[in-house]
Amino acid sequence: MSLRPAHRQKSSQLTAVTTAVALALAPMSAAFAQQAKGPPTLRDTEAEQLLRDYTRPILRVAGLEKQNIQVVIINESAFNAFVADGRRIFVNYGAIMQSETPNQLIGVLAHETGHLAGGHLAKMHEQIAQAQTQMIIAMLLGAGALVAGARGGNSNSGLSNAGAAAMAGPGEMIRRNLISYVRQQEENADRAGVKFLTASGQSPRGMYETFKRFTNDSLFSAHGTDPYLQSHPMPAERVAALEELARSSPYWDKKDDPALQLRHDMVRAKISAFMERQDTVYRRYPISNDSLPARYAHAITTYLHGDLRSALTQIDGLIQLQPNNPYFYELRGQALLEGGKPSEAIIPLRKAVALSNSAPLIEMLLGQALVGTDNKAYTEEAIRILRAAVARETEAPLGYMQLAMAYGRKGDFAEADLASAQAAFLRGDNKTARELAARAKTRFAIGTPGWVKADDIVAAKLPPGQKSN
Ligand SMILES: [Zn+2]
Repeated sequence: MSLRPAHRQKSSQLTAVTTAVALALAPMSAAFAQQAKGPPTLRDTEAEQLLRDYTRPILRVAGLEKQNIQVVIINESAFNAFVADGRRIFVNYGAIMQSETPNQLIGVLAHETGHLAGGHLAKMHEQIAQAQTQMIIAMLLGAGALVAGARGGNSNSGLSNAGAAAMAGPGEMIRRNLISYVRQQEENADRAGVKFLTASGQSPRGMYETFKRFTNDSLFSAHGTDPYLQSHPMPAERVAALEELARSSPYWDKKDDPALQLRHDMVRAKISAFMERQDTVYRRYPISNDSLPARYAHAITTYLHGDLRSALTQIDGLIQLQPNNPYFYELRGQALLEGGKPSEAIIPLRKAVALSNSAPLIEMLLGQALVGTDNKAYTEEAIRILRAAVARETEAPLGYMQLAMAYGRKGDFAEADLASAQAAFLRGDNKTARELAARAKTRFAIGTPGWVKADDIVAAKLPPGQKSN
């Protein structure tokens, strides 16, 4: 697929909590910087499937398998992973790139699951609410001391200075309280993470390696600049405690399954090729490197930089090596589609859909290819495939955009407007969504399912399957 940034609509929740944590640990400016830029996400079936396979055993032993917890990939190259609500674990693509083994990333996911299982976010909210009350009381006391000093008629006296100190002091004191509270949560999440890894028969070594790397890094880089260190203070005592705990695991020496390591390396090669500069891609994967991940990266970067013919030859070479890998056919289809050859993209994309057990993001690409041919014979099939895809993948606007085109081709302008409204809604453009939905309403008979859906959007309710903030 399109490993391309896609804006998600519900960013407010996310920034609210990360900001709260950042407030506790970083200067205000960092908190505002986080708030100012929303978190665009990356969508890719292969990468998401890998992360699902990483988290599934951990969620199971944590008793969270029924919570439908999603792993969301954030379009940021820095290493970071965090939880911001009870439903999602957010992972920067940088964390995937910087994890050399599956086990290192699984360790980070186990730690984040520890935060989820411990209900740390809710407790953090309480702590911050309490801090605010404490801060107000302390401010009032400080102001009182100041007033008392002024009344004494000697405003330069020690007493009034004590008042000023009290004014500045409480914020710092409360900040320290919060930091010690966060450290406590981090240690709890470490212990929970190791417990989950042991219970699922996995080594805690990768988790230790990752966290150790951050303590080592902190010797050379400024603490405040690293987002992972902002939300995960990593004092040496914590890493030492983790090491002792991790080494006591019976699975300490257990190695990653080579097949899983290959999938991990393939996803990293793909992310590099899609997200990094071409010279960086070739530095990571020199042309002389003919491993499967390197060849994957070469094929992707060749298609992205315009040489479709050479890219197709390279992709065919990959397909020869792994004829049942759905993502090679997906890549072939995507390269053809973006190269302006939608008719030729249909066959590989059908194959990718079949091999991926009808992954909805790939179905959306197939729908796009069918619609892109301008062949009306494909319209009904495109609508059927796209409807199935948007029913299972409720957050990707691409499916609704293609549906709108398919309905438009059919002359069904009511459904076309509704699908366009849904696409706008998922892009976070509520104004356009409401305008299109209002127009759709005039085209549907009152009370029909389409009218009701359009009415929901006009009333700024979320489309079915979406939870509100
Ligand atoms: Zn943590």
